[in-house]
Amino acid sequence: MSQVSMGQACDIETLLRPDVAAMEEYTPILPFEVLSARLGLPPERIVKLDANENPYGPSPKTLAALAAFPYHNIYPDPEQTALRAGLSRYLGIPADRILAGAGADELLDLICRLFLYPGDAVIVCPPTFGMYRFDALIQGARVVEISRRDDFTLDLDAIEKHFVSPDDAHPPKIVFLTSPNNPDGGLISQIALRRLLRLPAVIVMDEAYTEFAGESALMVTHDHSNLIVLRTFSKWAGLAGLRAGYGVFPAAVMRHLWKIKQPYNVSTAATVAALASLDDLAYLHENVRRLIAERERLQRELGRFDFLQPFPSRANFVLCRVIGRDARFLKQSLERRGILVRFFDRPGLRSCIRVSVGKPEHTDALLTSLREV
Ligand code: PMP
Repeated sequence: MSQVSMGQACDIETLLRPDVAAMEEYTPILPFEVLSARLGLPPERIVKLDANENPYGPSPKTLAALAAFPYHNIYPDPEQTALRAGLSRYLGIPADRILAGAGADELLDLICRLFLYPGDAVIVCPPTFGMYRFDALIQGARVVEISRRDDFTLDLDAIEKHFVSPDDAHPPKIVFLTSPNNPDGGLISQIALRRLLRLPAVIVMDEAYTEFAGESALMVTHDHSNLIVLRTFSKWAGLAGLRAGYGVFPAAVMRHLWKIKQPYNVSTAATVAALASLDDLAYLHENVRRLIAERERLQRELGRFDFLQPFPSRANFVLCRVIGRDARFLKQSLERRGILVRFFDRPGLRSCIRVSVGKPEHTDALLTSLREV
């Protein structure tokens, strides 16, 4: 018998990875039902414009396909054969370069796990989507932040500098790009992208909102072996709760991605819903068209308030700077009226709110409340 007495109290926290123990906690958004209870409002009275979700939801054919699918007791296909074939037809890209994930988020994590050792560097360009930094930090990577300019365009010279400095023996391995960018909705030009593709790094182009912009880097994947394009069904197809995303990867990394992917990462429900969405494009594209029209109206109407300065957006949300008023107070005043928007107050995003594009009646409710507060 060893001296260690089994069952002795163990300070389990001392066994944690020190870097994880020191990490800041992630602040998730509140679940809808919790919010509803907190505000004392039924869910149908809440105008949820804080997470860039699609207010039209999944297509009726998608809901019918989900209801009719009888095999949820069987594990999903680890090779995602039907889904990748469907995506291949939809994108005009060979299926052997496509991998699906439980949202684009899972693919971001997979990319970080594939390329990053502790101490490796990545470039992110804030203000931008938070998961690049989050996933890189979990791998123990160094996050090099190259801030955007005041108009949210990329500082290409500053990014390139990290690859030419002779004193940096370990140049960044991944550059994370987002087009349209979250939270401002601006695009990365093809010229800027092609310039960055010359860097000796993996270029991850996150196109979560591309369907609202009508521009994409997908075809550029044909002639660049360092470009990854990520997309999702969360926004245009209204499947955020089901978790379905996909990536188009360089041929040379596919074999390695398969090695580290969880076998059953995309659920049967997500697979059925994604395939049914691809079969109901006309319906879903009509909703995208409505959201684009509503975005234009929202931008115009928000610009009429002297305390709001909306930035031009090509996504399904509009970022506004709040001028001469307390943006946090504005967000809270809207919340008390059942209207949820996202509030930011950090470098590059001082005194800002981001409003997701809803249905016309959601815009109406927002505008009425803005006139009252
Ligand atoms: N990329 C960006 C830029 C996003 O804003 C989001 C969603 N908030 C995602 C990726 C994640 O998408 P998914 O729901 O497919 O994980």
